[in-house]
Amino acid sequence: MQKNEKISRKQLRKMKRKANRELYFCSACFVAVFGFLFYYLFGYVNSQQEILFNNSYNSRQSVVAAQNTRGTIYSEDGYVLAQTVEKEEKDTRVYPYGNLFSHVVGYTDKGKTGIESIENYWLTNTAVSEMTQAQNEADQKKNPGNNVYSTLNTKLQQAAYDAMGMYQGAVVVTEVKTGRILAMVSKPDYDPNQIAAIWDKVNEDTESAVLINRVTQGLYPPGSTFKIVTALSYIQMHPDDWNSYHYQCNGVYQNGENKIQCYHGSVHNSVDMIRSFAKSCNCSFANIGMMTEKKQFRNTIDSLLFNQALPIELPQQITSVALDQNSSAEAVIQTSIGQGQTQITPMLLNMITQAIANEGVVMEPILVDSIKSAEGKVLETNDPRPYQELMSKEEADILKQLMQEVVLSGTAKKLNGQSYTSAGKTGSAEFNKVKEDSHAWFTGFAPVEDPQIAVTVIVEKIGSGGDYAVPLARRIFDAWFEK
Ligand SMILES: [Zn+2]
Repeated sequence: MQKNEKISRKQLRKMKRKANRELYFCSACFVAVFGFLFYYLFGYVNSQQEILFNNSYNSRQSVVAAQNTRGTIYSEDGYVLAQTVEKEEKDTRVYPYGNLFSHVVGYTDKGKTGIESIENYWLTNTAVSEMTQAQNEADQKKNPGNNVYSTLNTKLQQAAYDAMGMYQGAVVVTEVKTGRILAMVSKPDYDPNQIAAIWDKVNEDTESAVLINRVTQGLYPPGSTFKIVTALSYIQMHPDDWNSYHYQCNGVYQNGENKIQCYHGSVHNSVDMIRSFAKSCNCSFANIGMMTEKKQFRNTIDSLLFNQALPIELPQQITSVALDQNSSAEAVIQTSIGQGQTQITPMLLNMITQAIANEGVVMEPILVDSIKSAEGKVLETNDPRPYQELMSKEEADILKQLMQEVVLSGTAKKLNGQSYTSAGKTGSAEFNKVKEDSHAWFTGFAPVEDPQIAVTVIVEKIGSGGDYAVPLARRIFDAWFEK
């Protein structure tokens, strides 16, 4: 009995010590967790300063806005795109180019969009020296906000805007090696100077969707521009013998109950991969799609950034391609020629084009080059950064060759014979049952030897890409190479 008691006392002490140890351990854990949370939150506030500031519930925003004059937004070639001036003792935001930069520069009345929204933190705040701030306070003057230097080029923007004319659609032009966005046009457009006055009207017109930036928010069927993807998938499966592919086009492709035709009843006869692509032979591409393993096709699609957000701060819609292992033959055929469920934005098509022109590597899109204080101090710069390798250099070179032939002898012949060489792919995307109604696409780059710019154009509800989108792209290339 005694022995047992002794043991139990000993055990008790042991248990106490153990409990104490656990308590110490728990306390230490709590301290560590709280310490981490505190550190994390503090770090979070610091790193998220911009985001927190831009949150509309943050009342500090309006306080700062009242103390400072909002900064200026400049184009790449040194022109003012947005500026705050005093009119009748009131700060007014002025957009000297009116409709020309509407979606991409944005507005500040009725919420903020475009660069006005992305760079709101910098534009609203000031980084002039404390001495200047003290002087301004003494003079009862506002401090000038920081200035934003965009990558947009007024000449290219104007060329793209004029080429689009009264049509609806979108144009985006990027610099191949840097990812800098040189022009971004979406039509219909609006005058940001008048945004408050036209607000109700543009919002009522849901069909035209005037406020939507079609470059990043417009989801369209890719039509034949998707043959870039189908061709790449085939090339990836047949790296050494893709060029021995052959097909006999009689204008109609039949697989069970599924039947498709070449555009406008064309018959392309004997075609290899290069001819299939240059002439945009639907029958041959339906055949290629059916020859491609679904898993490989899916991998190629995923590697080209479909079904995911792009690294761009502008509002965007996510593209979609539904193809997978269980897709029906009909779905495979439709996907191969860019019809069916597939939806793409002009921005993604431009990025894929850029990668082809840039040895397979797509750069992160850049819309703002740098931020400087009103006194010229550099506060932030966006240096070009590779985003992803979408394909190998060899694969990019093959696609480049295919795209060059489209200009030399295929559907983009209207680009042939210029002072510069170019390469690209057209598309005529059907969006309803009426065959004549199609969106006209072109995506391409120039010059072929050492690509500088990638141009992507879509004109809505107009007809074929070769007839409508190619001449429009040519005007943009012309403007670039004339300079
Ligand atoms: Zn054909």
